[in-house]
Amino acid sequence: QETDIAEMLEDVADRFSFQIRQKRISIRTVVRRDISTAWLDRDQIDQVLGNLVSNALKYTPEGGSIEMEAGRNSEGMLEISVRDSGIGIPKKDIERIFERFYRVDKARSRNMGGTGLGLSIAREIVKAHGGAISLQSELNKGSKVTFTLPLEKQRRDGA
Ligand code: ATP
Ligand code: MG
Repeated sequence: QETDIAEMLEDVADRFSFQIRQKRISIRTVVRRDISTAWLDRDQIDQVLGNLVSNALKYTPEGGSIEMEAGRNSEGMLEISVRDSGIGIPKKDIERIFERFYRVDKARSRNMGGTGLGLSIAREIVKAHGGAISLQSELNKGSKVTFTLPLEKQRRDGA
């Protein structure tokens, strides 16, 4: 359905407001001027965003920050990123991170809960909608997951 992007991002932040407050995380959403609404499969994209923000929260220590940003990329696609100031991911793990059940060393994941499915589900949804997802990360500095969605195709499909 036609979705106000700023509202969608703020809704996601609201869903996690308890944990955000509990961990004293500062969260910011930025919607660039080149986009305001888009035709989206709202349930599915909410799930992608939820998985990404849930990770950002899980893997960012107290007092850190999370930023969600949306805009149009150079190919005219909707581009949304979720960036955190968290523990980051070692280089050797980055290429496998979207695999099902893949988790960076068991020690740090064990006490966090979860199954290692969040990112693989996010990738499946994004791919099914004709987009792409990627992750950049630096150990002990933070991570940024970016996904794209075609704007025009979705309108034709009536998604
Ligand atoms: P689930 O999402 O099923 O609850 P999970 O969070 O462990 O479990 P994924 O979301 O698929 O699984 O993430 C896979 C692994 O990637 C995580 O276990 C974690 O090690 C690493 N990871 C994901 N996002 C981040 C992030 N923002 N910062 C640091 N590490 C991350
Ligand atoms: Mg997860």
